[in-house]
Amino acid sequence: MSLREQLCEYGRRAVELGLVIGTSGNLSVRQEDRVAVTPSGVALDRLTPELCPVVDLAGNLVEGESQPSSETPMHLAVYASGDARAVVHTHSVFGTVVATTMTELPPIHYNALLLGGTVRVAEYATYGTPELAANVRAALEGRRAVLMANHGGMTIGATLEEAFEATRLLEWLCEVYVRALGVGTPNVLTPEQLDAVVERAFNPPVFPRRAG
Ligand SMILES: [Zn+2]
Repeated sequence: MSLREQLCEYGRRAVELGLVIGTSGNLSVRQEDRVAVTPSGVALDRLTPELCPVVDLAGNLVEGESQPSSETPMHLAVYASGDARAVVHTHSVFGTVVATTMTELPPIHYNALLLGGTVRVAEYATYGTPELAANVRAALEGRRAVLMANHGGMTIGATLEEAFEATRLLEWLCEVYVRALGVGTPNVLTPEQLDAVVERAFNPPVFPRRAG
């Protein structure tokens, strides 16, 4: 699948799963010094490959007629500062609830380790500004996910599929946390408990085949 076809596929899935509504949310995927990004003003389930612009790492349009998403500078800042090859940004409900009320999403489930542990909430700044891009970049340090104050969430991956699955996981963790807060005080996993999970992941149980 071409980069632009991938944007159409995951854009459609993001709408289907209720992670985005209308024209909110944007995706990008990088190959070498080219980044295919979703266009401004088009609902993510209405994309065609031709509608998706391709920019270089400086933000110059190199392919396509549509204007890139207004949040493209944030995507480019992320590519400039790490090894990400795909970025997914949504205004998903539970992610936005946490980003509007808290300064971080604590690790209440061991799957948070897949995102790097505690997910930070980047300080608020107007969308599309270099200031927001800088805040997001700082909060993403050492993580696969970040929440953006009063805005939404963003995840990165080595592929668009990976970044997309990270967005689904981030939303699930936020939903579990918000619902848990409604029931009681959620227990946060300790650093020792998280270390033990990492240890376990590197030493999975072996199930010997029964003789005979
Ligand atoms: Zn946004």
